[in-house]
Amino acid sequence: MRPSESTNLYFNQAADRLGMAEWLRKLLVTPKREVTVQVAFERDNGQIETVLGFRVQHDNSRGPMKGGLRYHPAVDLDEVRSLASLMTWKTAVVEIPYGGAKGGIGIDPKTLSRKEVERMTRVFVDEIHEIVGPDTDIPAPDMGTNHEVMSWFRNQWEKYHGFNPAVITGKPVEEYGARGREEATGRGVGTLAVKLMKRLNVRPEQCRTVIQGFGNVGSHAAKFLSEAAFPVIAVSDLSGTYYNPKGLNVTEMLSYSFKNGNQLTGYSGAERMPGEALLEMDCDLLIPAALGDVIHKENANRIRAKTIIEAANGPIDPEADAILSAKKVTILPDILANAGGVTVSYFEWVQNRQHYRWSLDRVRQELDRTMTDAFENVWQQSASLDISLRTAAFMLAISRVQRATELAGMSH
Ligand code: NAD
Repeated sequence: MRPSESTNLYFNQAADRLGMAEWLRKLLVTPKREVTVQVAFERDNGQIETVLGFRVQHDNSRGPMKGGLRYHPAVDLDEVRSLASLMTWKTAVVEIPYGGAKGGIGIDPKTLSRKEVERMTRVFVDEIHEIVGPDTDIPAPDMGTNHEVMSWFRNQWEKYHGFNPAVITGKPVEEYGARGREEATGRGVGTLAVKLMKRLNVRPEQCRTVIQGFGNVGSHAAKFLSEAAFPVIAVSDLSGTYYNPKGLNVTEMLSYSFKNGNQLTGYSGAERMPGEALLEMDCDLLIPAALGDVIHKENANRIRAKTIIEAANGPIDPEADAILSAKKVTILPDILANAGGVTVSYFEWVQNRQHYRWSLDRVRQELDRTMTDAFENVWQQSASLDISLRTAAFMLAISRVQRATELAGMSH
């Protein structure tokens, strides 16, 4: 199944429940604009490299469109289209005044030097600067991009349009970035895990937790949860799985990874296992925080976790979702679970527009409030209609976008 088909399948399950008319479904799944551009840049050896860049603007009925920039070899128009629509539903679930967009370049940035990434980013901006801006479409970091790429993006865009740091979020803190943006997605995942487990009557100390991925999202989620007394018994990254049935020393692993180029390679304070062992471990809570489609119909029946929080985008494919739902596994969907990042991006944009800085405490408080309100709404909707948390989250999101569309005059 192509990525956009998976997203639209979830959309249609919720639209069926809402009894949505065919014309409106078509309107809401069709992106407003899809742009493919040539990105031709100079390699360090003087050769010209040509790659494709994409920006898909899915929907702007609730506000300017918002979504990351991904540099990864798997990036193509269909993947970007799917991620752009997920952003529309994500911003609607947490009720921040944005629509959804996504962009990227189909290249592995690890094969480029820093200067090459900079030149490529600047050419990409040359090609798309007219369609992005603080009131239209605001990019942010995603896989393969970081605050430095955001700085180059902003600098290049401002050459055409003048000073306006609100054109992009995820900037360095000392250059109009927001305090707390880096930790935001993992912290949001942790906050929701605490709420969800309370609802499921599982005490933190009993909740054996395993996390796939120890990058930005996974490591901050691990930190938050171990501080909240959850035994984090396994984490994995590209170098393998690290396991301790009594609970890992997350603080030690964070400082090891930080000193070791954000990798756990060589860490000796835990039992080592192959990377793929993690997903099928006996645990109470599984948090996939690395890649999409890691749980599929081949391994879904072997998953032993009772609860899964989708920290990555699309880690469970729709066939696996059906298998796990039949096994009564509780799944907190990505559009809610990882919305902490876009929420603090929104706070960054607000601060940029007000020329004012919030304290880290204020960012954390507002993030906590936003995630808690969204969780409670989704939980109530799911309980009152006896539907999955995923369908409940999609229903809430779609009905908000539908309402905004109708208020804009689009109705039959
Ligand atoms: P990252 O690049 O910082 O970290 C990814 C981690 O996954 C690394 O530790 C890497 O070693 C690990 N990994 C990669 N392949 C693996 C494999 N096969 N098995 C085990 N581990 C593997 O990325 P990130 O920013 O933490 O993003 C992770 C996921 O969360 C992505 O799906 C991303 O789209 C999603 N997400 C991120 C944010 C954000 O703010 N960073 C926001 C929303 C969603």
